[in-house]
Amino acid sequence: MVLRAQEVLAEVSAIGQSDLRWKEGRAFSLAYYAGPEVQAVADQAYAMYGSTNGLNADAFPSLKKFQADVVATVNRWVHGDELSAGFMTSGGTESILLAVKAARERGRREFGITQPNVVLPTSAHAAFEKACCYFGLESRRVPVRADWRADVEATRQAIDANTVLIVGSAPQYPQGVVDPIVDLAAIARERNINCHVDACMGGVTLTFLERLGENIPLWDFRVDGVTSISVDLHKYGYTSKGASVIMHRNRQLRSYQTFTTDNWLGGFYGSSGVLGTKSGGPMASAWAVMNYLGDEGYLRLTESARSTTRQLADAIERIDGLHLRTYPDSTLLSFGAQNFDVFAIADELAKTGWYVDRQTPPDSLHCTVNAVHHQVIEEFIVDLSHAVTKVQDAGSTGSVGAYGTIE
Ligand SMILES: *Cc1c(COP(=O)(O)O)cnc(C)c1O
Repeated sequence: MVLRAQEVLAEVSAIGQSDLRWKEGRAFSLAYYAGPEVQAVADQAYAMYGSTNGLNADAFPSLKKFQADVVATVNRWVHGDELSAGFMTSGGTESILLAVKAARERGRREFGITQPNVVLPTSAHAAFEKACCYFGLESRRVPVRADWRADVEATRQAIDANTVLIVGSAPQYPQGVVDPIVDLAAIARERNINCHVDACMGGVTLTFLERLGENIPLWDFRVDGVTSISVDLHKYGYTSKGASVIMHRNRQLRSYQTFTTDNWLGGFYGSSGVLGTKSGGPMASAWAVMNYLGDEGYLRLTESARSTTRQLADAIERIDGLHLRTYPDSTLLSFGAQNFDVFAIADELAKTGWYVDRQTPPDSLHCTVNAVHHQVIEEFIVDLSHAVTKVQDAGSTGSVGAYGTIE
């Protein structure tokens, strides 16, 4: 039996041999790594609670505690108060789905809106599109300004009596800049509608960059009019996948996201999020990693990711033929090519084991820089400039790739 288990587990391990080498810093997308000690804490806590069920936290007081403590910490990070309230979710997408659902529900119950729309910049994450599709809202995309940030005046003009939600990101994914949250939230406040700040990427990073003394425009609950905020822990919180937090400014606003029914033969059924049965693993892992790292750990990891991002951005600005879309506000950046196909660069980089994200429009490569990249950034910059030279010499064209796959 022991032998059989060992054989199977060896196979499980072997099956992963062609996966992204994210622990070696080869992936500038999809995975985050703060080193073997943090990973061990995350994995062990996950393993202890992976088969518990967060559907009913009363049956698992452990999970109730993990969630309460994690939400309280995130609430402190985003400058919430004793009125603000949140839940853990399975990820940024679920947090966003719930923010959109809550806005729709509030619009319906408080204002009788039956044909709701969401006004959001073209840079806001695809998960908002998914939410609008799932929950029957119209997505009204507003083009971003030349500096890639949300256009406040155009946002104001796109709003009508059926708008239930305005969205801003801190930062937005594609170019890594922070939207003018103060101005967007002011519009929402004037209209008495919801304003969601998507801080899935920046919730941890911006918090600690501010503490490190960087000049960060306000984006959290200190801004009047912000009604909800999403913060992913499985990105820059360096916890196991499956952990994000959705915060609402108060319990009334939060009440619109939860679901209850007794319209079946099983009695009262309530759930805070999209999932029914859900693993306690991500909750335990998040609690463990956040307590292990503490403010000090996050300050160190944030400083590392930010200085590495600057190093990469500065290098890209110096490489002939590459065009940095804009100087990054946090730890995400994107760049295009001046007179060749930028996706050919990604193909070249892939040959040396690097994975960067491809995005459009415009044709760009995207890097999500995290703490793991500190040790490899010089090597990456060398390979990147070689790739540029090679592609320019060959005058070659590359293949367009997408972010996700559906096969
Ligand atoms: C990652 C991300 C999301 C979606 O989160 P998932 O965890 O992938 O579901 C939403 N918004 C932004 C800005 C993100 O970076």
